[in-house]
Amino acid sequence: ETGTIGVIGLGNMGMGMVRTLLRDGFSVVGFDLSADRQTEAATAGATIVASLPELFEACKTIILSLPTANHVRTVLTGDDGLVARDLDARLVIDTTTSEPDVTRDIDATLRRLGHILIDAPVSGGPAGANSGQLTMMVGGDDADVARAMPVLASLGGKITHVGPVGAGHAVKIVNNMLVASHLLTMSEAVRLGNAAGVTTENLISALNAGSGRSAISEVNYPKWVMNGAFDSGFTMGLMRKDMRLAMALAKDKDVALPVSALAGQIWGKSSDLLADDADFNRITECDPTHAG
Ligand code: NAD
Repeated sequence: ETGTIGVIGLGNMGMGMVRTLLRDGFSVVGFDLSADRQTEAATAGATIVASLPELFEACKTIILSLPTANHVRTVLTGDDGLVARDLDARLVIDTTTSEPDVTRDIDATLRRLGHILIDAPVSGGPAGANSGQLTMMVGGDDADVARAMPVLASLGGKITHVGPVGAGHAVKIVNNMLVASHLLTMSEAVRLGNAAGVTTENLISALNAGSGRSAISEVNYPKWVMNGAFDSGFTMGLMRKDMRLAMALAKDKDVALPVSALAGQIWGKSSDLLADDADFNRITECDPTHAG
């Protein structure tokens, strides 16, 4: 039913998805602009094609794991895109952290040509992609989501169908607004605890059994911050994008978010100090007075 699965974007997340799909017995075709990424996916067992049109020809189901909504638009509606080909129904599953309005717009174009789009952005990082335990926030019609379920079930642990097309992308933006804010509030909590004479280890250990805990105290601090590893596989550049999207969504919907807006300003200004390819957990090391 799902046929051969194409994966476009073989980065930190896409590569893990390829490995998981192969392990679950799907045949996978991969495409990335980066030759290194193509080689790595071929080594993992995927078939690699030289161009996007070849992937669209070969695959009934297509997963996208691209940096931004603009990349998604280009890949689907550009000159080499799906809409420029004369093909029967394709199922497109967009796992990119993208923009609800862009997603709905592309959906309308694809639907006229008989294709199906669902948005299924993810949480859980490269580790979740590699283990097939991603949290998925899915937007789409009931029948379309049901059709995608064998693929979603391979990639995902907890899968929540949150509404029509675009709703998944809205939920993911809300999720990452919380993550970005929690990183800042946890770094303030650690500064306060340290100043009051408590070690970070003891503070985090106690908080993780208390009601102040979050994914940041339970996962990020032990795994990537306290040990100085900063190797989560998620970058400052992508998180800055997500915070920008959250602020834009709030403005568009006319929702006042004064606390999150301050966090948004600090994330925006962080580009003075931290490059796009730095680990996103580095925000905890930023000078707290930097926001001005
Ligand atoms: P990444 O930068 O590692 O990978 C993106 C890949 O897309 C790159 O290999 C790039 O070469 C490729 N690409 C760009 N334009 C292309 C095109 N036109 N055709 C084919 N390939 C193209 O990013 P990532 O960390 O894998 O994230 C992918 C998406 O998932 C982003 O939207 C991100 O916000 C989201 N996300 C990431 C994480 C994480 O922990 N890394 C977690 C959840 C969601």
